[in-house]
Amino acid sequence: MKLRKVTAASATVFALALTATACGSDGGDSGSDGGNKKITVGIKYDQPGLGLKTPDGSFTGFDVDVAKYVAKELGYEEGDIEFKETKSADRETALARGDVDFIAATYSITDERAKKVDFAGPYLLAHQDLLIRADDNVTKGDDLNGKKLCSVTGSTSAQNVKNDFAKDAQLKEYGTYSQCLGALQSGQVDALTTDDSILAGYAAQEQYKGKFKLAGLELSNENYGIGVKKGEKEMVDKINAALEKMVQDKSWDKAVQDNFGPANYENERAPEIGNIVK
Ligand code: GLU
Repeated sequence: MKLRKVTAASATVFALALTATACGSDGGDSGSDGGNKKITVGIKYDQPGLGLKTPDGSFTGFDVDVAKYVAKELGYEEGDIEFKETKSADRETALARGDVDFIAATYSITDERAKKVDFAGPYLLAHQDLLIRADDNVTKGDDLNGKKLCSVTGSTSAQNVKNDFAKDAQLKEYGTYSQCLGALQSGQVDALTTDDSILAGYAAQEQYKGKFKLAGLELSNENYGIGVKKGEKEMVDKINAALEKMVQDKSWDKAVQDNFGPANYENERAPEIGNIVK
């Protein structure tokens, strides 16, 4: 960029242009005063350690911390963020309709999804695993055949079961993982399958301690990305810069410790932006 002398008048125009960009895109409050702008972020509401709405109405989890960091880098304070629940099956539609500005909701980057939305990241690498009853044993994907499995509609977890490792398992699909957890507890299903990051959070809940365990199978690679509306390249670039900064200034490590520490989840190192592990 060429540097030139900035007159007072052109500086004002420049400042206005910046303000317009910052609150321009849909979902933002595009108010002409540049004040009280909002950003709407899609998260999960029932995944402890990742995205959880607590009884007092606040939000916690790794995805929430990532979302707050990214929003801040985009120019939004915490109070400017409106969190919305985006269940697994609703994420592409929520972005396409502009219901949310971005999604940080254990959202794996896949070729299929990338046809409909754009992704920044990845910012976490997780692996599909199983949550089973403490006295049960499953050592490989094939052990699942003949068993009753639960997963969530629109998730890679459900898709992988059908396509890959347990074609003959009976798969029950619910709208959320917490519904699956209820079914596991009552004995309606034998296992809940999704990312180990999510399962570790459930297993560590006070009410489930000693009842469930993770099978410890790395059944897939789940590269978590931040989803944005298709075509919003500038937004993707800005979010990638924010994610890079989050790793560099160690906020990423802190978020990992705060959110995965209590569940003893052994996370992978921070991924490099653009490096998708197949
Ligand atoms: N990460 C997987 C996915 O994006 C499973 C977790 C989820 O459903 O959010 O489908």
